Amino acid sequence: MEKITKTMTCIVCPIGCSLTAVRDENGNVTVKGNSCPRGAKYATSELTNPVRTLTSVVRTENGDMLSVKTSEPIPKELVREAAKALAGVVVKTPVHIGDVIVKDILGTGSDIVATKNIP
Ligand code: SF4
Repeated sequence: MEKITKTMTCIVCPIGCSLTAVRDENGNVTVKGNSCPRGAKYATSELTNPVRTLTSVVRTENGDMLSVKTSEPIPKELVREAAKALAGVVVKTPVHIGDVIVKDILGTGSDIVATKNIP
């Protein structure tokens, strides 16, 4: 396995620690610069399986825009494709916060859920 070093800013909280994550030839990850364990977890994830929460909007049948997000973070490389997949979605109203708009988006196991009520 190839050694990888990646520097990043932790986005878990507003402090924004500068992190350096190293994955050695055996796959072991070490993280420096983090002020708390959440930063180490974030940097490890960024190095091995980066994920993001997608937030977006979809149309409703009455023309209102409905804000939505993924129920769980999805692989970073699928965020753009997931956003494209939402472009053609038209939602029936009424909609309530937490309603599933698209189940298992792109087979990620994460649902697209409403973050707004529309009567
Ligand atoms: S390492 Fe901890 S303290 Fe630093 S930005 Fe990340 S979450 Fe915040």
